[in-house]
Amino acid sequence: MAKETFEFQAETKQLLDLMVHSIYTNHEIFLRELISNASDAIDKLHYESLTNRDILEGDTAFEIHLTPDAHTLTISDNGLGMNKEDLVQNLGTIAKSGTKAFLEKLKEAQDSDSTDKDLIGQFGVGFYSAFMVADTVTVVTRKAGEKQAYKWESSGDGTYSLEECEKPKHGTTIILHLGKDFYGDKSEENYTDQMTISGLVKKYSDYIRYPITMDYVTKEKPKDADGKTIEDAPEEEKVETRTLNSMQPLWTRNKSDIKPEEYKDFFKHQFYEWEDPMEIFHTKAEGAVEYTALLFIPGSAPFNLYYTDYEAGLQLYSRHVFIMDKCKDLLPDYLRFVKGLVDSPDLSLNISRELLQQSRELKLIGRNLEKNILKTLARTLEKDRAKYEKFWAEYGKSLKIGVYSGMMTGENNVDKLKDLLLFMSSKDGKLCTLKEYVGRMKDGQQKIYFATGKDRAAIDAMPQMELLRDRDLEVLYMLDPVDEFAVQAIGEYDGKKFHSISQGDLDLDDDEYKEEKKKAEDLAKSNEDLLKDIKEVIGDKVADVRLSNRLKSGAVCLVADAAGPSIAMEQAFAAANN
Ligand code: ADP
Ligand code: MG
Repeated sequence: MAKETFEFQAETKQLLDLMVHSIYTNHEIFLRELISNASDAIDKLHYESLTNRDILEGDTAFEIHLTPDAHTLTISDNGLGMNKEDLVQNLGTIAKSGTKAFLEKLKEAQDSDSTDKDLIGQFGVGFYSAFMVADTVTVVTRKAGEKQAYKWESSGDGTYSLEECEKPKHGTTIILHLGKDFYGDKSEENYTDQMTISGLVKKYSDYIRYPITMDYVTKEKPKDADGKTIEDAPEEEKVETRTLNSMQPLWTRNKSDIKPEEYKDFFKHQFYEWEDPMEIFHTKAEGAVEYTALLFIPGSAPFNLYYTDYEAGLQLYSRHVFIMDKCKDLLPDYLRFVKGLVDSPDLSLNISRELLQQSRELKLIGRNLEKNILKTLARTLEKDRAKYEKFWAEYGKSLKIGVYSGMMTGENNVDKLKDLLLFMSSKDGKLCTLKEYVGRMKDGQQKIYFATGKDRAAIDAMPQMELLRDRDLEVLYMLDPVDEFAVQAIGEYDGKKFHSISQGDLDLDDDEYKEEKKKAEDLAKSNEDLLKDIKEVIGDKVADVRLSNRLKSGAVCLVADAAGPSIAMEQAFAAANN
């Protein structure tokens, strides 16, 4: 194969351009990104090797090796490597939704004229960050199990080249041809300096599970057989390979020794997030099953949380060794927004996904984690309302969906979740829990009143609201179609039934209302013919025409049939069927 030239995909060009011309000053994170890619590639190979030992080609000492030279810095790994298709796919296009989101954020920030220069640092921008420090990047790589190696090269100018080459060891070697500001003793950012490099590894990549090594050359005089230095001999060069990282994963360390910043950095980096998490759970359990879990609730919900392309799930490790990404079988679907990992010696490394799903240990861990998360949420609701409301704004929908989807899957999510739900109330227009609503019900009030509508103003304008307002009865606004599904699933709270004021009879409990209702019924009887006439004129557009005592100043109102779906649910169904 002769050397071929390819164009980067448009979005990649955009990102590259940003890297090359970035005014952003935190260049050093490039090393973290490249090391993390190397570690990912070793993870992948290791995982493959569990079922296909031959793929290792006898090379079982996983390692990421750094080699500084006069003008270059080289990062090598003996991970999975890439073939031609992988190179085109992975280094030519941006498939990762995180990077797209990053570009959008950046654009947003630029449009609002407040370019957040820290954005790049917060975001895992990955491989392309190499172009912040390198004029040219060369990637030499061979995929484990395949014969042909390839050389990929680019100067970040919109194109890259590919050609075949030789590489005896599988894995990837990345050579950074550093820009003139980034090498040499006179440079303030000298990425060929061993002290600088080892400092960066300590700072950003200490917990990487594979040794990150570098060769140190020392000159000393040889020693004699007794270990005494031979003073008149010339100095000899000795090469010593040192491991720069402690390889201790963050989650295995003591909670009390971990700084909040370390958790946050880990979260962003491990899960490609750019915002601090709003909640961190770090738990160790011993007993029936032993595990450590490090879970996070991201600062905001991803835009695709409720779409089918969103992949929920936690990372699984066994004795700190990566088993799988996105394991969905740990947490219930209503906690799909939780990110994190579980490390347990009780999970077997050599297990297939199918067997893992049935694993008793996994189920036990999942149940414990669910309990922990719900407990923390309940505590937050009680102790830090503002924080809980922020959580609710991002993830409330997920819990509401959980309440009614539980009915279909046979889990009793109602009892678990009903006290964590918030609804907008007509009282002060604030969010309230069902407990709060019931706690301040009026004497004699038997029902929890709610109204469905597209917004608060629309509900407030409903004629039915007037009667409740007059009686100072609190109404919960159901503004999201899922609210009503959730309420239907709950049925009643603390013995009080939910009652839609836009559905059937208002059915208020006070005598005045009952009296008026009786009057209206009498009136209806005596006006039977009139109502029939009206129904005939309107025809099939309505199911029935009735006289009502739920009107005060309005002349007419539409109500849903008590037995049929409510108006909002009809709208929701109509929307779903479109
Ligand atoms: P991310 O790591 O978030 O996927 P990057 O931009 O860092 O995004 O890397 C893009 C892709 O390039 C990776 O997903 C991986 O498939 C591939 N890649 C990068 N570095 C290596 C490497 N050292 N070995 C094998 N594949 C790599
Ligand atoms: Mg990466």
